[in-house]
This record gives sequence, C-alpha cells and structure tokens, in this order.
Amino acid sequence: MLTADDIGGVHVKYLSDCPRQLWLYGRGVRPESRSDRVQLGEAVHDTSYRREHPVDLGAAKLDHFDGQRWVHEVKSSNHPTEADHAQAMHYCYRLRHLGIDVEGAILKYPKIRRTVRISYTEAEGAAAAAMIASALDTLTADTSPPRLRRRDCYGCSYLDYCWTD
Ligand code: SF4
Repeated sequence: MLTADDIGGVHVKYLSDCPRQLWLYGRGVRPESRSDRVQLGEAVHDTSYRREHPVDLGAAKLDHFDGQRWVHEVKSSNHPTEADHAQAMHYCYRLRHLGIDVEGAILKYPKIRRTVRISYTEAEGAAAAAMIASALDTLTADTSPPRLRRRDCYGCSYLDYCWTD
C-alpha cells in the first residue's frame, strides 16, 4: 500500500502539471521514458552543472544540496513553472523532515540563463504536505481524473493515450 514516504519529486511534478498524468504514471504508463523532452532534460543536466552531485532521498532525488543549505535543481524548460516550484519545495520538505535546516531552493534554467530562488517557509511546508496528501488521493483513485483542456495538453507525452479515440 502506498504511503506518504513513497511520494517523490516526480509525483509532485506530475500532480502539479496534471492529476491525470500522475494517475497514469501510477499505473505504469511511461511514455516519457522515450520522449525527446526527457532526453533534452538529461542533456541539459549533463552539460550544465557537472561539478554538482545528486542527493538521493529515497523516493525523491535532488540535483545538489550546497553548504549554505540550499537545494539546487537544473531545469531544461524555457520558463519557470508551478511544477518546478512544487517539486523544489517537496525536496525542502523532505530534507526538513530528515532534520536538515534547509533554507530553500535555487532553480537554474540554462536555456534562458535564469536563476530562481525560493525560500522555504512554514507556508511552503504546509503546501508541500498538502501536495503529498493530494498525490496519494490521486494515485489511489479508482478512476482517472478528467483530461485537461486540449490546448493545455501541449507537449505532454501522454497525448496519444488521452486523445486518441
Ligand atoms: S494529455 Fe492532457 S489530460 Fe492527458 S495526461 Fe497529458 S496533460 Fe493530462
């Protein structure tokens, strides 16, 4: 049975992007494993910040945690998203629950040469906890959440699954 400890950064990202995407992912549908977008993400990650080392938190894996207690994440997209924010705060939440006094997260977007800094606050922690509860609800639902509007599905790797009648 799934518990809160099983919820990782990828679950939070998918939930934030589209609950149906998370539900499909939870049932083993993995179109993204072959997608160009994921390959691009890996390429950007590999070539941008080689000197930083990933930190494995079990269900969650973050790119780097520095000496000033900031989480670092490298993003391949060309604009910051709510999903990026939620995922970063999820990592901070996990670290805090391991007893680490995390300051927040620094998101780096090499494609647009932009850096976003987010402080981890009590409100962010409460939102991260609510995301975990919501992810569990979504993953254990018997039926799939509804589709987004077609125009909001642009770029989603589940397009064929959701929109081929
Ligand atoms: S295609 Fe649209 S509805 Fe389906 S998972 Fe992706 S974003 Fe959600």
